Amino acid sequence: MSNYERYKQEVLRHGQMMLSKGYTVGTGGNVSIRVEGEEALVITPSNRDYGELAPDDICVVDFGLTTIEGKYSPSKETGLHIAVYRHRPDANAVIHSHPIYTSIFALISRPVPALFDEVVMSIGNVTDVVPYALSGSDQLVDNVREKLSNRCNCYILQNHGALSIGTSIGRAFRSLELMEKSSQIYYHALLTGEKPTTLPSDLSDLLFQLLKAEQDLEIEKKRKRG
Ligand SMILES: [Zn+2]
Repeated sequence: MSNYERYKQEVLRHGQMMLSKGYTVGTGGNVSIRVEGEEALVITPSNRDYGELAPDDICVVDFGLTTIEGKYSPSKETGLHIAVYRHRPDANAVIHSHPIYTSIFALISRPVPALFDEVVMSIGNVTDVVPYALSGSDQLVDNVREKLSNRCNCYILQNHGALSIGTSIGRAFRSLELMEKSSQIYYHALLTGEKPTTLPSDLSDLLFQLLKAEQDLEIEKKRKRG
């Protein structure tokens, strides 16, 4: 059995959950988990139906883009996932999806503010918009990298979809769910013509600090491990 078996099972399970919950269609989107203690990630293959994949079909790739295990080509967004792991050392999982309501904000290029306390605690103070660039391009990697320093866990990809990251695959998926739920509610709130109310800024700042403290703990854990 592969040393990466557990990672492969979790990547596949969350890819299938992304599809079953309607956060993508067909073969769209991609899911990865960073391998603990290695400069490597376990990621879904390119252009393969999630429902027809087995754990052995999931790819293991190092940060130099060399395949360690897997018979299929890794996702064309593998470089983007690696950039997240390099520039956000708190991140251990990345999910790229195409959820409907978040994609509406991707089309009107409008950030979604964090309007619920659970959203600040999971995502941060905003889901910001990353300027458009072609899927799989170096430009898209550069555009995402520029936004990662805001320390939030979700991003809208202009005219494309969404990106969620987390200290675990469970946290990244939870943030994806909250991002899509928030986008749906914010969309309907805007349709009323009323101005949505916001959280008190001191409370929002405090909750975001708690999230950053969790990220710092994860970074410290990795630093100690060396
Ligand atoms: Zn996509």
